[in-house]
Amino acid sequence: MYERILIPTDGSETAELAVEEALDIAEKFDAEVYTLYVVDTDAAELSLGTEQVERIRSGRFGEMEELEARAREATEHVAARGRERGIDVAEHFRGGRPHDVIADFAEDHDVDLVVMGSHGRSGVRRMLLGSVTERVLRSTHRSVLVVDEREVE
Ligand code: ATP
Ligand code: MN
Repeated sequence: MYERILIPTDGSETAELAVEEALDIAEKFDAEVYTLYVVDTDAAELSLGTEQVERIRSGRFGEMEELEARAREATEHVAARGRERGIDVAEHFRGGRPHDVIADFAEDHDVDLVVMGSHGRSGVRRMLLGSVTERVLRSTHRSVLVVDEREVE
C-alpha cells in the first residue's frame, strides 16, 4: 500500500517519535524511506544576508558549515535508526520554506505517505500543530500521518 515514505525532520524529539512510527510502517510494507531536513531560509534571512540565503536556497552551503552540520546530524539520526532495523534511508537536505520544500519533495519523488511530528523545535505547545505541519497539510494532496507527541509516553 505504501511504497515511498517521507520523514521530514528538524532534529527535534517529536520528529524522532515520528521516525519510529514511519519505520514501523516502512517495515510492514517494505517501502522506500526518505528523510529530509530543510534549512529554513525565512528564519535564516533574519541572521544572514540575501546572498547567503540565495546560496542556501540553491543547495550551496559553502562555508556555512554549521547549517550543513545541523542538517546532516538530523538526517543521519534517522538513517541510523533505519540501519538498526535493516531499513535503508535516503538522506536529503534542502534550503527554502520548509512546508513548500516538503510538499515539492513529496511530489517529485511520488511519495505516498509523509510521516511527521505534531511539533518541532521551536513551537508553542499550546498549539495543536506546529506551523510547518499545518502548512504541509494545507499544501499537499498526499497522505500525511501526524504523530502527536502527547499521545506517546
Ligand atoms: P513552529 O515551527 O510553528 O514554531 P514547531 O517547531 O513546534 O512550531 P513544526 O515546525 O511544525 O512545529 O514541526 C512539526 C514537524 O514538522 C516536525 O516534527 C518535523 O517532522 C517537521 N519539520 C519542522 N521543521 C522542519 C524542517 N526545517 N525540515 C524538515 N522537517 C521539519
Ligand atoms: Mn518548527
